[in-house]
Amino acid sequence: MASIDQGRNNKLGCDRVLHAKAIQGLKLFNEGKFFEAHEELEEAWKVEKGEVRELYRGILQIAVTYLHITRGNYEGALKVYGRSMKWLKNWPDICMGIQVRKLRDTAKLVMNEVERLGKENIGGFNTSLFKPIQWIEKRIWICDRCGSEMVEKNCKVNCSNCGNRFDCSDLNIHFD
Ligand SMILES: [Zn+2]
Repeated sequence: MASIDQGRNNKLGCDRVLHAKAIQGLKLFNEGKFFEAHEELEEAWKVEKGEVRELYRGILQIAVTYLHITRGNYEGALKVYGRSMKWLKNWPDICMGIQVRKLRDTAKLVMNEVERLGKENIGGFNTSLFKPIQWIEKRIWICDRCGSEMVEKNCKVNCSNCGNRFDCSDLNIHFD
């Protein structure tokens, strides 16, 4: 079961590392800087070649949706949210370490509230309903013996090619 999901995720590119611009965008998003977040995610969307670029597009449209809400633009929020779902709906729950399902669930709750308030009362939207996007930054290790990419799990780093292994905490001294 897990291996089937893994295969599908890898095909989509969900095993990839987040683009640096995307990381920047997610950080800005979580600071409530939705315009700036949208700009960084757009950069990531432009330079990314794989299918995962559409995930960046979906997230940037959520940022634009939230921006519209904070500016009291009811129609704009509904329109962009509708568009974003096209790019967000088909991903696994977690892709490139991003909790995509949680983001979709949060955005749905936000939009339910926006629709409940309606055009007249959108100014009363409680922005505490905007929840941060959760993600884990995957680190890439390259084997110093054979040059292969190594897999990290719970701080144990292992080379599947030559069997080289170490504990990631062993390396911290070199980074200081
Ligand atoms: Zn190796």
